[in-house]
Amino acid sequence: MASYAELLTRTEWKARREQILELDGYKCVRCNNREDLHVHHIRYERGRMPWEHKDHDLVTLCEQCHTVWHNRKNGGYLDVEEFFRTLDIDHRARLRHE
Ligand SMILES: [Zn+2]
Ligand SMILES: [Zn+2]
Repeated sequence: MASYAELLTRTEWKARREQILELDGYKCVRCNNREDLHVHHIRYERGRMPWEHKDHDLVTLCEQCHTVWHNRKNGGYLDVEEFFRTLDIDHRARLRHE
């Protein structure tokens, strides 16, 4: 069984990550930074590979915001609506892409 870190090195994840970066315009949705971008999983669905998550479960954050996010969450995850409310983003606009 591959570790999670190993899964994130696979071409499937790289392709999926690229799709999310494109969807978010290659910038952090929280602060509009265009450098050191990460694609964060807002929530994980059991039994799904990292790249099998839907658009609304993935979001582009810069390294700094990603760290802030994980620190304030203490490693846990908010639900999707709460996440987007926190970021002041219209989550429904995102869902329309699917
Ligand atoms: Zn993350
Ligand atoms: Zn940021």
